[in-house]
Amino acid sequence: MATKNPRSQALRKLREASQDETKAVELFEWRRFRDGAYCPRCGDTDVYQMRDRDTGERERNFRWRCRGCKQRFTVRTGTILEETRLPLRIWVHAYWKACASKKGVSALQISRECEISYKTALYLMHRIRLSMLEDPSGEPKLSGVVEVDETFVGGKPRHSVRTVKNPKTGRVTQYLPAAAMKGGTEKIPVQALVERGGRVRARQLERLDATKLRGAVHELVERGSRVHTDENPSYKALGRTGYKHDWVTHSKKEYARGDVTTNTVEGFFALLKRGVFGTFHSVSKQHLHRYLAEFEFRYNHRKVNDGERTLAAIDGGEGKRLLYARPATTQ
Ligand SMILES: [Zn+2]
Repeated sequence: MATKNPRSQALRKLREASQDETKAVELFEWRRFRDGAYCPRCGDTDVYQMRDRDTGERERNFRWRCRGCKQRFTVRTGTILEETRLPLRIWVHAYWKACASKKGVSALQISRECEISYKTALYLMHRIRLSMLEDPSGEPKLSGVVEVDETFVGGKPRHSVRTVKNPKTGRVTQYLPAAAMKGGTEKIPVQALVERGGRVRARQLERLDATKLRGAVHELVERGSRVHTDENPSYKALGRTGYKHDWVTHSKKEYARGDVTTNTVEGFFALLKRGVFGTFHSVSKQHLHRYLAEFEFRYNHRKVNDGERTLAAIDGGEGKRLLYARPATTQ
């Protein structure tokens, strides 16, 4: 049914494009050439769609030709879509699935639904995560009230993370007992910064190092903002470097004092962990940053509908080339 509502228009286009290759090509062209078609090789706008001489229909590989450089191209040229020959309707399906669920979608599920190999599905999903990767340097810093916290993600330790407090200095440290490392796989520290009511930035760390933890605040949060943390002493110096720093003392079971809490950032971690354990089962250290980009993206686009979120991810794939050459075979 035809509708003028742009929100349901996006969903209708996605539904059609996930079932029909021509519609899928048209969807990617609609996004990429929304300000007018151009040649990705030389930038010329004097371009045209190639047609079959006999039928007058569009050429079957959906190629374009540039009158400037005389070269041919497709909507894939110069994008993350270029290095596979997978039909674009499969890309649409995978983008949509990755954007429509809070926890994401596993490569295994995509491989079953699209009848492609697991290896190909994994390759596809890593590229989709790459298009979801946001560059914070091009955006305003987080501001207002920003909650900052750390957690451990991934791995399957035999024992959980322990927290100890030094009674003299009050310093709280988190550590994994050596026995946990022997019996399980590695857990990776992650720091997240959440602007209340706004965006999140999540980072994988080598270890919970005070300089790095504070450094992220300096890099990503506007001076003058209110920064809420727990009692982790790594953040104490923030009050002297231009931030209004407040904290709650979790070790004393204090979770809120006035509007000072870290509940929002903990909510983000809960979502991340449910996704990593529930959907992806295990994520290796080498790939965690891709999953963080995916969860960050979905969180930062949570206020729009599934269709608009999917289009935003597709738009992110433009101009992003592969950062690695070989297909990844593990999560
Ligand atoms: Zn050209």
